Amino acid sequence: MSFFKKLFGGSEEEGQGKEQGQGLGDLIKQAKAMQEQFASQVQQGSQQNLDVSQLMAQATANMEALTGQTAEPRAQFVKKTNCHNCGGAKTLPPKTAYVYCDFCGSLTDYDFQKACENPQSMMPGPAYEQLIRDTNADAQLARETKDRDKFIEIQRRLFDRWIELCPNAVSPRAKRDENYRKQLVEYMAQTATVNEFDEKYQEFAAQVTKDTMGIKWQGMYPKMTAESSTFWPLYQTVKAQLEYSYGILKANGVLDLHPDQAPEDLQRRMTWSMFCQGWLPTLGPEDSERMIADAGLKGEYTRMEPVETTVRHCGGCGGEMHMLKGAKVMICEECGTKVDVGNPEVNCKNCAGMISFPVGVNRLQCPYCTSEAQRMSW
Ligand SMILES: [Zn+2]
Ligand SMILES: [Zn+2]
Ligand SMILES: [Zn+2]
Repeated sequence: MSFFKKLFGGSEEEGQGKEQGQGLGDLIKQAKAMQEQFASQVQQGSQQNLDVSQLMAQATANMEALTGQTAEPRAQFVKKTNCHNCGGAKTLPPKTAYVYCDFCGSLTDYDFQKACENPQSMMPGPAYEQLIRDTNADAQLARETKDRDKFIEIQRRLFDRWIELCPNAVSPRAKRDENYRKQLVEYMAQTATVNEFDEKYQEFAAQVTKDTMGIKWQGMYPKMTAESSTFWPLYQTVKAQLEYSYGILKANGVLDLHPDQAPEDLQRRMTWSMFCQGWLPTLGPEDSERMIADAGLKGEYTRMEPVETTVRHCGGCGGEMHMLKGAKVMICEECGTKVDVGNPEVNCKNCAGMISFPVGVNRLQCPYCTSEAQRMSW
């Protein structure tokens, strides 16, 4: 298994050990780089036409086995969640892993199973790899000279581009809401920078690399699994790293920068999810279940009951939204607009189309006919 040795043991090679210490991006990169290389190595080695999506399909299969939902379309199931902001129970099935409250539009949960449905959404491809290469030397210099400002500037560019290239890896709100997107970039860049310039965090990162190199593999592809006894030390190190990281992020006010004002526990689960998504395909069923339970990602799913809804029309994209009785604010899952559904819809004066205005917006371009539309004054 020399390619695995090369893959996990080759810290001298670009892409692996060198890119540690990028916080949130760190985890994504570790996991995704691992999978990409895993898949491409296997492809070369065995002539089989396997790609990353097939590899990741295993992760989905694992999730299905864990939640027992293989026989039913997933849209019929809703993960049980109550809103931390208004207490509302999640009722409508979310389209993405980002679970927004049906009543107040707050981010209330992160659905790991949903995230596993679209595993490639986090892979930015060659354009991003090029940007990483282009900025690598500057980032390295900033690291060595302890130039925080320069480092964070690079991180902002990287995350901004990453969000652009992988819109499905982040909240749908980043699609259209410029302000949201800026805040998200800032949150990610600050996270990466605080972690990067913390010595103890870097010690954890070095240990993570070491533990990753220590993974022993069993079986033959596609049934390759990480040996349990070698995986758990890595898991524990990552856990300790994550705990430590959240301590310093909190102390530096970074957690308060979250663009959805997500509670700390939710932010933590979202970070965990990235690590778990990366490793799930390489674990046996018992280890998978244990990891997901330990990371707090399992959740309880209930079949969606038929509910009465009113149709609303998103002021951002014109798409239909299904509103529950009593809802005030909803996130349009198509375009990410935060829509005011507490007030009545407005007819466009030009085309008579129905519009629910975004929160805090009083005039906009009609999503159907592009003429200017105004909120009624009453
Ligand atoms: Zn709510
Ligand atoms: Zn919309
Ligand atoms: Zn119109």
